[in-house]
Amino acid sequence: MEPFRLTIAEAAAAIAKNELAPAALAESVFTRIEAIDGKVGAYITVKAKDLAMEQAGRLLTGGQSDRPLYGVPMAIKDNMCIKGVRTTCASKILEKFIPPYDSTVTNKLDEAGYILTGKTNLDEFAMGSSTENSGYFTTKNPWDLSRAPGGSSGGSAAAVAADMCIAAIGSDTGGSIRQPASFCGVVGLKPTYGLVSRFGLVAFASSLDQIGPITKTVEDAAIVLSVIAGGDHKDSTSAHTDIPNYAASLTGDLKGMKIGIPQEYFIDGMDKEVETVVRAAIAEMEKLGAEVVSIKLPHTAYAVAAYYIIATSEASSNLARYDGVKYGLRVSGSDLIDTYKETRARGFGQEVKRRIMLGTYALSSGYYDAYYKKAQQVRTLIKRDFDEAFKLVDVIATPTSPTTAFKIGEKTDDPLQMYLSDIFTISVNLAGVPAISIPCGFDSANLPIGLQLIGRHFNEAAILQAGHAYERHAGWYKRRPSI
Ligand code: GLN
Repeated sequence: MEPFRLTIAEAAAAIAKNELAPAALAESVFTRIEAIDGKVGAYITVKAKDLAMEQAGRLLTGGQSDRPLYGVPMAIKDNMCIKGVRTTCASKILEKFIPPYDSTVTNKLDEAGYILTGKTNLDEFAMGSSTENSGYFTTKNPWDLSRAPGGSSGGSAAAVAADMCIAAIGSDTGGSIRQPASFCGVVGLKPTYGLVSRFGLVAFASSLDQIGPITKTVEDAAIVLSVIAGGDHKDSTSAHTDIPNYAASLTGDLKGMKIGIPQEYFIDGMDKEVETVVRAAIAEMEKLGAEVVSIKLPHTAYAVAAYYIIATSEASSNLARYDGVKYGLRVSGSDLIDTYKETRARGFGQEVKRRIMLGTYALSSGYYDAYYKKAQQVRTLIKRDFDEAFKLVDVIATPTSPTTAFKIGEKTDDPLQMYLSDIFTISVNLAGVPAISIPCGFDSANLPIGLQLIGRHFNEAAILQAGHAYERHAGWYKRRPSI
């Protein structure tokens, strides 16, 4: 098998057994990027191959047992800072921004021995569901190049699906890890809010943003999560809890696990093929010994509305820092105010401007109570729905997205349609609970379908265990796109 096709677990084992040199693995992955990224467009910046080869060449064959990502080439979404590496957020306003520091996540990956392949495409500032809002170009779905890879971490998901990295890191504010993972037929995990430090992640909506892995298998997600999780004094919202060895929770067993099926997630208007395939996956889990229970999440219908008030309000505040003075692009005007205006008018794309305006409006005096405060109250109700449900079940299973990958251009003229594609992922961020998307089958056009498993706060182990047991049994992860 070509080394670029390996999972993290397989690559690490091959390196440890002296069967694969880190340099040979890097060579294989970078050659793959050269061969196909012209078609897919997953990367905004590819690391210079000679630098990567030099770095890999210094690593020993045989690995280092305390460094689980030793020699593993991984891609990072281009909204996380790496010292000296351009970080654009797919925005013109940060086109030339070179951060002087590392994010905590990439520091931890470094300590674990990873090799950076490059920075992947996204919707500008992670605002979108398709990468079509990138200020540079749209990434193509490796399963069908006329379709969107999902978003906003579309570049990371496409890079993993097309074997242009062994694994990748994404960020998820309303579904941006899980929905592209679902569209691209790979695994995407959004950890509990606070489990992974966001230091060095460019902020979109601070009460929702989380960083997580996009991988070929559930086992790989567990390996990466163990590396990146943990409290950090540089992120005051990070939780200082003990981090288990998540890979140890992959027992392959589902016996006695209670899985809840929320009726609100099987709605009119969702793709029938998605519903059939997801229901079949749940039936398989039942055969493996899980107990399936019908549950209610009654406030689900309000999640999209609450999210688009809260996320845009926080974004309007977070993005105030791009003023032409402190970071990136500066377009000089006749005076300071004019400079702010010119810089922001030229630097931000349409969707980012739309959200800044929406958020500023929602926070403005006279409207605050009607919109922002109301949305926060709804958020509390949504969180309580999950608290109640988790008194009855260990894990909740839903589709990740109501459809498979849509055509590029299909929803760009209708922002509301685009927002609705996040209907099954957003509640999870509002509640702060963890969720994973895993491949559970294909539609008749050979497009992947994702199963979402949601867990209690800080119980990543349960969704990893359930996802892994299903994945090994079903075997969808073995199917790869041909490009
Ligand atoms: N698609 C959602 C949005 O546009 C979620 C994005 C994200 O998770 N970063 O806001």
